[in-house]
Amino acid sequence: MEIPRNSLLDWPHQVPAAALHCLADTDFLLALELGPPDWWQAWQEKRLEDMLQWLKLPTFSHLPIQRRQDYRAQFEATSPRVPPEHGRLVTFQSSGSSGVPVRFWRSELATRVNVSHYWADHRRQERNLHASMAVITGTPGPHDGSHMELVADNWLHPAVQLGRYSPQFTMQEHAKWVCDHAPHYLVTTPATLSSIISLIEIHRLSAPRVWQVLTSSHTVEPALRDRARRVFGASIRDRYSCEEIGPIAFQCPYSDDYYHVAVANAMVEVVDHHGQAQQPGVAGNVLVTGLHQWATPALRYDLGDIAALHPHCPACGSTVPTLSNLLGRKFFLLKSPTGGLRHVRVLAEHWLGCADVREHRIVQTGAQSFRVEIVLNHKLKESERHALNGMLLRLIGSEFSFEIVQVDAVPWPQGTKRHEFVGCQE
Ligand SMILES: [Zn+2]
Repeated sequence: MEIPRNSLLDWPHQVPAAALHCLADTDFLLALELGPPDWWQAWQEKRLEDMLQWLKLPTFSHLPIQRRQDYRAQFEATSPRVPPEHGRLVTFQSSGSSGVPVRFWRSELATRVNVSHYWADHRRQERNLHASMAVITGTPGPHDGSHMELVADNWLHPAVQLGRYSPQFTMQEHAKWVCDHAPHYLVTTPATLSSIISLIEIHRLSAPRVWQVLTSSHTVEPALRDRARRVFGASIRDRYSCEEIGPIAFQCPYSDDYYHVAVANAMVEVVDHHGQAQQPGVAGNVLVTGLHQWATPALRYDLGDIAALHPHCPACGSTVPTLSNLLGRKFFLLKSPTGGLRHVRVLAEHWLGCADVREHRIVQTGAQSFRVEIVLNHKLKESERHALNGMLLRLIGSEFSFEIVQVDAVPWPQGTKRHEFVGCQE
């Protein structure tokens, strides 16, 4: 039998410290999640107290809500200072889902805790890390050929992982590649997954059986879960995080609807428009406090997301607080004239069913009006305009009006994520 590369041959005399830490961290995180509630409550109380003391801040309940602009100003105005056991500091930046890019410091300790949470999720979701995994995201970075082999830790993740840098290929190329390589696990964003499924269906490609699709970064709608089950036979296991703090909640292994708060990394509050705690199970604004983010502290940080908070998981009985109705960034939500909020998603097949649309963006310009920017290879025909208008009325709502504008290129803002739907900002 061939023993995998690198240091496994050194066992039992030498085992890398990072792998051992990770195994111990993973056990601890799952023990907090599955143990009695006073375990995680006592642990959180102690961490919060230590952090506020170090930062010389008043008690938690007296802290104001921190907006993204406040967070950015804090980075610019203060130099980071952490206890020596937090290790070195590195700067990161978040491209800014809400249109406000921020920079922040993160310590080695915070990074370790962050990474351990994703290993704990492999255990929570009972993944077989000897099985193949494909990653199609913006993180592997540019590479030669159709994919690159990602270097994994042989102690923790023996299977080969294939990474594909998402922007390097068209969605059609991604769809074909997934069908050709048939990974057991697929890691990607909901938007990429949605496009891949659409193209598999449009071109009648032979879809592989996938065990789980691991998503992050944007909201997963119930319809996408149904489509992933139908096409791949796979359930989606979503992770809710932000770059500044790291993991915030992980999908319950027994439910599509609930997300267990990552109590060892973050405290989550859900508040109404006046900043008052919302009743359990009632949706409101999500505020997050990072328990290891001492370098650029995120305290009662308003992510611009909407969710409902439950004292424990209604689906599996886990004793940690649990989120539901996770609607994602307010930025992606449409506010209807009656005040309700809902997600807007127009799929590739909807656009292509009307015209050969190359690129598109929908911008909400008023309470009931939108500008729809589209890129075509030919001049927009009246029949296509009519079809597009009908499709948008059907999917977004007949109470709205749409100004369809053909452009040479969608004017995406520099240095931010591309949002195909831009809602009115509050
Ligand atoms: Zn649960």
